[in-house]
Amino acid sequence: MSALTDRLRHRHRAEPAGGSAPPAPPTAHAELRARRDALAEEVAELTWDLGGLTYEMAIRDHFRLDVLTRRAAELQRADAELAEVDRLLAAEQRSEAGSCAACGAPHSRGAAFCWQCGSALLVSLSDN
Ligand SMILES: [Zn+2]
Repeated sequence: MSALTDRLRHRHRAEPAGGSAPPAPPTAHAELRARRDALAEEVAELTWDLGGLTYEMAIRDHFRLDVLTRRAAELQRADAELAEVDRLLAAEQRSEAGSCAACGAPHSRGAAFCWQCGSALLVSLSDN
């Protein structure tokens, strides 16, 4: 959309932008990460929308509090869900099974491929 929106989005992304990972089998972890990314994007967009809306109202000196409250509630819901997914991801990492032999990134139990470099995690294939 815009440079500012891009910055807002990237602020939520903790992982390095590699983009070279091969298609990994869908794991609960991968789904959580995808959900987190989608939520981070949604929160960024809602934040952007709310800011723009507030600005429009400010320059007209006419605030529709009901509209702002509704948008803020939407943002709050998405933000709360994002926080919950982050907590789940953090909890998953605490119960990690080990580290990738190639790049050292931690991986959770049952992960077949390293999320960072895409190497096969042969050790964890046995406990599936
Ligand atoms: Zn790796």
